[in-house]
Amino acid sequence: MQDVSPAATVSAGRGPDRPPVGAPAELLRRLRARTGADPVTHVERVPARAGEQAPWPDWTPEPLRAAFARRGVVAPWRHQAQAADLAYVGRSVVVATGTASGKSLAYQLPALATLLADPRATVLYLAPTKALAADQLRAVAGLELDGVRPACYDGDTPRAERDWIRQHARFVLTNPDMLHHGILPGHARWSGFLRRLAYVIVDECHTYRGVFGSHVAHVLRRLRRQCARFGRTPVFILASATSGDPATTAGRLTGLPVAAVTEDASPRGGVTFALWEPPLLPADADAAEADATVADLAPVRRSALRETADLLADTVAAGVRTLAFVRSRKGAEVVAANARRALDEAVPGLGERVAAYRGGYLREERRELERALLHGDLLGLASTNALELGVDLVGLDAVLICGWPGTRASLWQQAGRAGRSGGEALAVLVARDDPLDTYLVHHPEALFGRPVEATVLDPANPYVLAPQLACAAAEAPLTPADLDLFGEGAKEAVDSLVETGALRQRPTGWYWRHRERPEVDLRGEGGAPVCVVEAATGRLLGTVDGGSSHFLLHPGAVYLHQGVSYVVDALDLADGCALVHPEEPDWSTHARDVTSLTVASVRSYVDAGPVGLFLGEVDVTSQVVSYQRRRIASGEVIDTRPLDLPARELRTVAVWFTLSPESMTSAGVAPADVSGALHAAEHAGIGLLPLMATCDRWDIGGLSTALHPDTEAPTVFVYDGHPGGAGFAERAYRTAAQWLRATRDAIAECGCEAGCPSCVQSPKCGNGNNPLSKPDAVRVLDVVLANLPTEHPPRQPGPTDAPDAGPPGAGAGG
Ligand SMILES: [Zn+2]
Ligand SMILES: [Zn+2]
Repeated sequence: MQDVSPAATVSAGRGPDRPPVGAPAELLRRLRARTGADPVTHVERVPARAGEQAPWPDWTPEPLRAAFARRGVVAPWRHQAQAADLAYVGRSVVVATGTASGKSLAYQLPALATLLADPRATVLYLAPTKALAADQLRAVAGLELDGVRPACYDGDTPRAERDWIRQHARFVLTNPDMLHHGILPGHARWSGFLRRLAYVIVDECHTYRGVFGSHVAHVLRRLRRQCARFGRTPVFILASATSGDPATTAGRLTGLPVAAVTEDASPRGGVTFALWEPPLLPADADAAEADATVADLAPVRRSALRETADLLADTVAAGVRTLAFVRSRKGAEVVAANARRALDEAVPGLGERVAAYRGGYLREERRELERALLHGDLLGLASTNALELGVDLVGLDAVLICGWPGTRASLWQQAGRAGRSGGEALAVLVARDDPLDTYLVHHPEALFGRPVEATVLDPANPYVLAPQLACAAAEAPLTPADLDLFGEGAKEAVDSLVETGALRQRPTGWYWRHRERPEVDLRGEGGAPVCVVEAATGRLLGTVDGGSSHFLLHPGAVYLHQGVSYVVDALDLADGCALVHPEEPDWSTHARDVTSLTVASVRSYVDAGPVGLFLGEVDVTSQVVSYQRRRIASGEVIDTRPLDLPARELRTVAVWFTLSPESMTSAGVAPADVSGALHAAEHAGIGLLPLMATCDRWDIGGLSTALHPDTEAPTVFVYDGHPGGAGFAERAYRTAAQWLRATRDAIAECGCEAGCPSCVQSPKCGNGNNPLSKPDAVRVLDVVLANLPTEHPPRQPGPTDAPDAGPPGAGAGG
């Protein structure tokens, strides 16, 4: 959906007679002159790039070349031709380039050329959503190529059409869920299609991350296995947003060696990119007067929403076409309303040129708003999500990003909307009041000139592997050769399935023992997902995995679904369903939990003298005990309400570090402050981990203690909030020195005195952010960083190490 052909990119950039806009540098000067203290912490100039075309590969059939020409594509960009060439000669390839760089042409070219050259060949296209598959269907059908017969096959496909599609369609568009629930279990009926399968296209593959990504990785292995039974080895073409190390991620996802094409040769306008930190509120503002019981988490800075609204009003007043990205629909409406009010106060009527872009709008209404913005009838738009936006909405004069969007990949996708071809544009990232945003606006080197994050998934997660192997066995008995295909841990998972009676071992392989197929939900996690149901209508809005349900669906929770806000009336854990009603209150809700944890086993560790770093399995018991309501516009805490939910057990993967008490004393941490130091370091560490892994802080949990019975030392744990782990803690372990360095700097550089939401306070702390010691957290992290090698081959616990107790606790080292 984010893709357009190169020609379309250029023409959308030109647009009809727009008035010339002042240089971005001048615009930025005006914006920052508005306030007293300079809110701009950094300005980066991203230079314009001329596009670089390549000739059509000589294998391109003439009708295909003509079809692309009708669409306005004269020649491919170099990266498109490069990826297409690799795929055409049979190498699996991932193309990972920016917004609107034309990734779809890179896979359409070899796939369609093959369908035209070989009248028997077939292609399977996978998108993460039905909507994206439908968009891609329109694009392929619009080429009007003879004999390609593209068709969507998903949950909405009428039964009557399914037979025809299986027998005749040659370009089938679907999603991983349908492949898992429909196509693979029905492989006998799909044998004609599968035995001729030439390409598997995996679009937007960066969305397959965490537990969901690990499931999809095994669905693709199951697909490869079914094809192999017919002697078929399809070539995989993956398209990704710009991401770190795409070849490795694509390799983990498919289980195959994958070549990466990452050099974007599409043209782009220059962008002046400013990092913006809203000013501190005066000390005597309402924050100080807030009720003492809710004093923690009181905002100390002007909210990012207010700041973004003011910036939007200022750019619109200057006649600049601006798109503001805001995380929630309510937030987008607050920004649009405040900007309108400010503009109307200045020039009555000017406010009409700003609108909010709502997820609930019909496609036609959205297209109309996009048109109005492109033509300049509308000058400012506040929007929730890049994926809802039309393809043509690129080439804007300014983009405001309210709060870090979570990854550099999304940051560039959003900023990529700015920059007309041949023109210059402005992008501004407005920091919210949290550790990661604060760190980033003070560390431009973490944003610019470095690769975006790698997509993290862990196919070896036993909670994913075992159910997926059960599905595979139900499709066809597993053989020893299959174990290699499913990779690390497959043998253990099969053994456990035999033990529980799910599989039976025979001389010819492992057989599924039941009549019914195993029930496995790709987007859940083994436990039953909780259904979200609109109480008045009985309509099923969606599901939330069991692990997150207590956090997201407790009674009173504000639940966002596709940008629309609901409030939870009741959470019925026995039935696995939450009843909700549509409502848009002025507050958001933030659940808090309390946790205890025991170490089950150690996978790997680094012994660094007084410091130990570990990766292993842990059992976490946690209970969501209360939630806070916070005003959307200001972040101010309204109140904290108790909850009555049962405790839950979780076996997952954690990273943890330990310090010897002596090393802390020498660093100047008084024994009474050890707990506060570790607790503060834990909060900030969780806040900063998304810098290293594609997760957000709600995917991970933490625990810190001055003395843990299993490590016998002061310890900070950070764990994956998903059964079996999702790869985030593992990533933290592998990048520990970088991760903890960033954490230390974020705390040390925060301008607050005793800790604030920008550094060591956490919105999900079950202990009410108490105790916390900001200066001692820096001392603790300094000890860890001084001892931890930046590169160290981790050790596996084995018989030669510490024969009695496995790996040493840190106490032993100091
Ligand atoms: Zn602070
Ligand atoms: Zn806490």
